[in-house]
Amino acid sequence: MREELEIKLGNDFPFMKRTNTNDGNIYQKWGCECADGWYQLLRDLCQEITNIYSNAGMPIDIIVEQVKEKFATLRFYYSFEGTPCPIQAFDCLSDGTGIRFQPRNESDNEDKKKLRKDIAQTVRKYEEKSKFVCECCGNEGTIRMELPWKRTLCDQCLSEHLQKIEHRKAEQKRQIQKLKDKLKEK
Ligand SMILES: [Zn+2]
Repeated sequence: MREELEIKLGNDFPFMKRTNTNDGNIYQKWGCECADGWYQLLRDLCQEITNIYSNAGMPIDIIVEQVKEKFATLRFYYSFEGTPCPIQAFDCLSDGTGIRFQPRNESDNEDKKKLRKDIAQTVRKYEEKSKFVCECCGNEGTIRMELPWKRTLCDQCLSEHLQKIEHRKAEQKRQIQKLKDKLKEK
């Protein structure tokens, strides 16, 4: 994602702020590992998370661990202060299904447990939504199988992607032909 969009997210939602700490946190290191089209989706998710905390009257203690595209959908991994979640998911199945884990703390009181459940549900909701939002431009999209790797794109962005791939293939062919011709000359 473009740096200016990430900075905006960080300014509007403090838990999305990236500081240059090198503590092994993937989000801190790499930021949002997806294209710009999911910016609004992420904003809406962050707003809902903020609302959940303010409705519960609790201080925000979410730690964003990793934000990325995987199997054409958004993945938003997180933990809570004092409640690490070292393994977030097993993305072992090629159809995109996997097993998700969520940070749990048995000593949490009921209010906190509910808050954490609400956040988990909200995160899942937005990850599901990403299946219908073009990762490149944010318009309505759908998961495309005709690319070298699956992505969620609108018709326009898909055709641009396919054109780019065709162009690259043609260019490679030209280069190979050039080499062949050179070898013949010798
Ligand atoms: Zn698009």
